[in-house]
Amino acid sequence: MKYQADFLEQVDRYFEKAATHTKLQRGVLDRIKACSSVYKITFPVRLDTGEIDMIEAWRAEHSHHRLPVKGGIRYAPSVCEDEIVALASLMTFKCAVVDVPFGGAKGGIKIDRRDYSSAEIERITRRYTFELTKKNFIGPAVDVPAPDYGTGPQEMTWILDTYRACSGGDLDSAGCVTGKPTSQDGIYGRKEATGRGVFFGIREACKRADEMRKLGLTPGIEGKRVVIQGLGNVGYHAARCIEENGARLVGLIEIEGAVFNPEGLVLEDVMEHRHATGSILGFKDAGSINESGKALELDCDILVPAALENQITRKNAGRIKAKIIAEAANGPVTAEADEILTASGRMILPDIYLNAGGVTVSYFEWLKNLFHVRFGRMQKRFDLLTHRTMLKAVEEMTGKKLGQEVYDFLESGGNEEDLVNSGLEETMILAFCDIQETGMRHGVDLRTASFIYAIEKVAVSIKELGIFP
Ligand code: NAD
Repeated sequence: MKYQADFLEQVDRYFEKAATHTKLQRGVLDRIKACSSVYKITFPVRLDTGEIDMIEAWRAEHSHHRLPVKGGIRYAPSVCEDEIVALASLMTFKCAVVDVPFGGAKGGIKIDRRDYSSAEIERITRRYTFELTKKNFIGPAVDVPAPDYGTGPQEMTWILDTYRACSGGDLDSAGCVTGKPTSQDGIYGRKEATGRGVFFGIREACKRADEMRKLGLTPGIEGKRVVIQGLGNVGYHAARCIEENGARLVGLIEIEGAVFNPEGLVLEDVMEHRHATGSILGFKDAGSINESGKALELDCDILVPAALENQITRKNAGRIKAKIIAEAANGPVTAEADEILTASGRMILPDIYLNAGGVTVSYFEWLKNLFHVRFGRMQKRFDLLTHRTMLKAVEEMTGKKLGQEVYDFLESGGNEEDLVNSGLEETMILAFCDIQETGMRHGVDLRTASFIYAIEKVAVSIKELGIFP
């Protein structure tokens, strides 16, 4: 399938472009670039009708330089080996960019989930997990999946339950998968994490006054006109954070088409309309476009592709009006389109940075599972008493009464979600500074900078493993 093979070629092109800026030997670069292992599975599933369907699935572990390896599982008709290897490779570099101590991996099942009932999806998910377990391609210390396109907390629960059934009382079994519901050892804030991370990344970029001036934009996210493609897990939560922080959603694109209004759309109203009618098309007070691809060309400041790869290609890149392309999805801009957009002065916030909020909070969830205690549980009351004592001491020393709001803030302490969100925000800010500094040092765009930064980090780890003398 040529279309998908291109995705892997594109990731390789980005890698090679960045590699020329490093001083690493060819052998080290080849070692970093290669995919370590791919497991291809074909298994039968009994349909509700009693018929049998053969299902194709993959799990790729790109790099074992840090363990476990980590990466989502997607259910989509486009899934093939090249796609999964490309995505696993992006995961290795993504983890390095946000300083998460995992190697990269990815899994996929070649199905259109709309063709299957919930019971059939459960059988497929459980059988896939069983196959991974048999070959040691899943486990808290080896390989930890998460949600991706077409999967969510429900699939993660089935994965956990099946792994537990097969792994014979592993105390750390909850850490075999992340993105679980909170009632099943998940963590508050994981569902929203990728979208929220996308917002933090866009906000950081928009703070840079010099960069914004070059794009003809004012600094700050407030008032920016935003178009979002894909209102699934990533796109919906990104849209929500963007809207809450004062930007205007002027276009929303789903698989059936798009709605737009230069004055702004209210996300929840559009979602309610889609829920009620099965489509975003025909939403009141908005124009409709039947062809979702065409809607990428809507006039806006920021375009957020949050659906799938290969959405902006050399064919439509010249017609994209957005000044900033924020890659919430993996690989939405092809390498050729990237060159066209960069040459015309656009800013691209690359996937390996921008959508890394998901793996960051997955890391927190995995840590929570290994600690067997919720974040904040041990210190919350202790912190509260410490802060109260300090505030009283300040009042005694100054003779002034502090306002109730000071007490309320310091005494509220951080619950798990507060801690997760602050850890995510800090991670996205730090990573932006790192890639921006790398970009300035090498005189390159943010994507090349992210790859340079990640490749050099992985190289240190590989060299210390002693594979290369
Ligand atoms: P999802 O399945 O929850 O949502 C995807 C949405 O995109 C769906 O609503 C679907 O209808 C829509 N869509 C599909 N094709 C479209 C098209 N041509 N035009 C407009 N809309 C279209 O998936 P997700 O988890 O939000 O993942 C989206 C992207 O983000 C993928 O590239 C995935 O690899 C990446 N990603 C996801 C996560 C995560 O935590 N879920 C983390 C990092 C990266």
